[in-house]
Amino acid sequence: MSGAGRRVLVLGGTAEARALAALLVEVPGTVVVSSLAGRVADPRLPVGEVRIGGFGGAAGLARWLSAQRIDAVVDATHPYAARMRTAAVEAARAAGVPHVRLERPGWTAQPGDRWYRVADVDAAVRALPTLGRRVLLTTGRQSLAAFLPLTSVRILARVVDAPVEPIPPHVRVLRSRGPYTVEGELDLMRAHDIDVLVTKDSGGPLTEAKLVAARRLDLPVLMIDRPKPPVLPAVVHTADGAAGWLAGLPAAQPG
Ligand code: NAP
Repeated sequence: MSGAGRRVLVLGGTAEARALAALLVEVPGTVVVSSLAGRVADPRLPVGEVRIGGFGGAAGLARWLSAQRIDAVVDATHPYAARMRTAAVEAARAAGVPHVRLERPGWTAQPGDRWYRVADVDAAVRALPTLGRRVLLTTGRQSLAAFLPLTSVRILARVVDAPVEPIPPHVRVLRSRGPYTVEGELDLMRAHDIDVLVTKDSGGPLTEAKLVAARRLDLPVLMIDRPKPPVLPAVVHTADGAAGWLAGLPAAQPG
């Protein structure tokens, strides 16, 4: 892509967003501003300019896009960041800025997998006691509260940052951040005698090892589906795809 002073907002918090920022800082005439929500205490920072914190909904983001003279928005937030995804579409439309959604594909079951798909966290809470008693819960800190009342199961909850809510005795918190290896996941599952895995369908290679480990141990996997997407003007699945989409935009106008 060329175009004097083209300013691109990358809504981030994912490996794809960091990969895209790394590609864009090498493109002459492009300024990349990555945005993080500020949820994680010690985030992995992308290269280039970074801003942290919410915008104040779609209206706030639309104002920000205009004030910062942004020429294109790449929404590379996590597949489960449903609010930001919708706000990005609305804000880009309101501000008249081209928008693309960068979303990695979900995972696909392999032979030997025992996956049980459910629509959302509430459905997972209802289904979990029918699948196992010793749970590895990997759905993140924000959904942890929904599982805490399940006193009939023992839960090992793996999260990046410490939960804010009090943790009852049947739940143990393990703080860690991927990427993970298959051997490491097998060790963890065996050490805690895990008999069911709960996960989102995040996709991508960084956290896929738990699915391979569950397959090898013949464990059921409770897989929470992605939230339904809004109508999106353009979708790509890789950082390269997003860079290509940006390269196809008309050159930015000076001023
Ligand atoms: P969300 O529910 O869709 O967003 C909640 C609010 O957080 C948004 O309304 C927005 O606040 C702010 N926000 C979200 N992403 C932002 C960004 N990149 N830059 C600035 N503000 C942002 O999102 P979430 O599920 O809480 O995820 C928050 C962040 O964590 C995202 O950036 C996402 O990529 C990352 N992440 C999420 C998950 C997950 O499982 N949900 C996993 C890994 C990483 P305002 O309304 O004030 O603008």
